[in-house]
Amino acid sequence: MQSPLLKIALSLLIITSTNTKATALSEANNKSEQKPNLIIILTDDQGYKDVGFNGSTDIKTPNIDRIASEGTRFTNGYVSYPVCGPSRAGLLTGRYQDRFGFTSNPTMDPTVKQNGIPTSEKNIAEVLKPAGYTSGIIGKWHMGTHPELRPNKRGFDYFYGFLSGGHQYFAKDLTLNSLDDVKYKYDWYRTRLLRNEQRVDTDEYLTDELSHEAVEFIKRESDKPFFLYVAYNAPHTPLQASKEYLDRNKHIPKGKRRTYAAMITAVDDGVGQILATLKEQGIDDNTLVVFLSDNGGARNNASDNGDLRGYKNNLFEGGVRVPFAARWPKKIPAGVDYHQPVSSLDILATIVSQANVDISKNKPLDGVDLIPYITNEKTGSPHDILFWRHVKAKSHAVRSGADKLVQVKQETMLFNLDDDHQENNNIVEKHAEKDAVMQKAYQQWESELQDQAFPYLGSWKKNRPNSNKKAKKKNKSKGVDK
Ligand code: CA
Repeated sequence: MQSPLLKIALSLLIITSTNTKATALSEANNKSEQKPNLIIILTDDQGYKDVGFNGSTDIKTPNIDRIASEGTRFTNGYVSYPVCGPSRAGLLTGRYQDRFGFTSNPTMDPTVKQNGIPTSEKNIAEVLKPAGYTSGIIGKWHMGTHPELRPNKRGFDYFYGFLSGGHQYFAKDLTLNSLDDVKYKYDWYRTRLLRNEQRVDTDEYLTDELSHEAVEFIKRESDKPFFLYVAYNAPHTPLQASKEYLDRNKHIPKGKRRTYAAMITAVDDGVGQILATLKEQGIDDNTLVVFLSDNGGARNNASDNGDLRGYKNNLFEGGVRVPFAARWPKKIPAGVDYHQPVSSLDILATIVSQANVDISKNKPLDGVDLIPYITNEKTGSPHDILFWRHVKAKSHAVRSGADKLVQVKQETMLFNLDDDHQENNNIVEKHAEKDAVMQKAYQQWESELQDQAFPYLGSWKKNRPNSNKKAKKKNKSKGVDK
């Protein structure tokens, strides 16, 4: 068998061959049966180790763990960017978000027409709609605030949540009626929730509110194929948890970590309710449930990436390798660990392949149907190579087989993740040939990308006049990008 790097070197000679994999539909086993449902449960800034299935000892996640123990745990599961917005744009389109200029978190300014996924791209809801799917998003959107870019205009039949990249968790703090009322940065965290285009009053702790909405959606839609995107903002800052969940984490010393844990406990309860509802509705067997975080743990929320190097907002493993598991009793065998690199980009490719959705007229996907790999029908790695570009940090990364190249400004690092998953031992000087091949592959990929399409998140509205500039400067130096 050729090494992944040799394969890449050869494939560079045939440039157009790199993105064709995902468009090939795999054979359906049961064409006559109803198309499978898809539920994506996405958490926000949750650390790699902060689930039981990746070894957490202080935070208990028995329900999330069921997705892994009754399905597949991906030990090398990646997202396509180390902060919220671009990562979600990649997940939802199945294409590297830099292909359409989604290179950072977008501005919240609702007058900017470019501030989300462009209408030239199709997200999962838009791809599945012609195949008869009903789609819902519960929770965080962050894919554009302009009226033409909001969920109901982008293929989702139902939206319950908020447009911002984070939110206040207690109903009493949701005091703004719309983005028009936002005077200062991050006050968009205080907007009342939306049910489709209507503002609603709420009374529950936000995570509970979202879980209950997810359950109701499943009950309503269980008689026909659906896609449900449960985009929890937990455990993203602000760190806020209700007494019930704090009390269940008294074994953790009082402080940020306990609150963070409590926020995950609330998510875990919600996952339990979602799984129980699938069973009650008789659709457990035919529903693919994918759980993952949108990026690695952040420095500011007391998360734990285990022994992975780095955090949210950088391209070391701690920024882009996330807790990732998938459960589908009909197709995925229980208790399988899958160790080859997989990507959030693969979710769309998997569902369209498994549901026999015709995407031949769509733009080519970067993802791959993972089911044949999980079931050993196909061997080898789903991806010969994966890329990341972080324009603001002047950084990029490439993974091929065990090799990972990380470029940060002028510094080039090469790691062998099989021997050195902590990325401590830079071996680039001994392997100049790998550096050359991977850099060339990156340059080829980068030539296909677009420049940033919209202003940065922080460009809209001023800081509060009494804000602590010193603290903000400190946060900025740590690369915190909300
Ligand atoms: Ca995030």
